[in-house]
Amino acid sequence: MSYIFQPEAIPSVPIAGSDQVFPVRRIYCVGQNYGDHVREMGGDPKQNPPVFFSKPANAVVTNNQAVRYPSATDNLHYEAELVVALGSGGGNIDAAQALDCVFGYAIGIDFTRRDLQAAAKQSGKPWDAAKGFDESAPLSAIAPADHIDPQSGRIWLSVNGEVRQDADLSDMIWSVPEIIAQLSTLYTLKAGDLIFTGTPAGVSAVIPGDRIKAGIADVGEIEFELIAADNS
Ligand code: MN
Repeated sequence: MSYIFQPEAIPSVPIAGSDQVFPVRRIYCVGQNYGDHVREMGGDPKQNPPVFFSKPANAVVTNNQAVRYPSATDNLHYEAELVVALGSGGGNIDAAQALDCVFGYAIGIDFTRRDLQAAAKQSGKPWDAAKGFDESAPLSAIAPADHIDPQSGRIWLSVNGEVRQDADLSDMIWSVPEIIAQLSTLYTLKAGDLIFTGTPAGVSAVIPGDRIKAGIADVGEIEFELIAADNS
């Protein structure tokens, strides 16, 4: 058997302190996982179970490369998030064993076409075009999980040097083990899966020319420029 055309390379993410890279299989995301962000979006944090959605694996942008402003939006929002990188998986994973599946952690941005998301929410339609567009998932190198506590540490994001998001991972409504356990009741998780775990309060719009920097204590940092679509 041979392919009718040469397939694209598997998307991958650098691993901090290593020459090897992490091959991305799927990208899952959790919506509304910090109480303050849920409240700023007009919801009640404890009312509903986590909302899961996904992005295509080739939405990743690595090595602090510039991100092109997407088409079809006038309201592009950043969302700084802890990203979990799985080294193994399974189905119906027990929360008590869930951290055994984690290879490492990164800081990522869940870019969102907020205008399209608001329209989708209002009409009860899917979020795909609001969330799963090209270059919608920039992330840092992956830090191996050893010695990293995914339930504590500052998470922050700045735009042009001004801090816009500043919170602690301990503010998460659903913990990383709970997220893995719940996600694994819906999908068989595998090595190579990334999970964006939700964003704290402080989301807002960015425009071409803005410089975005974000980090999580003990995990890493990311810094890149948002550029006009026809700029490269
Ligand atoms: Mn998000």
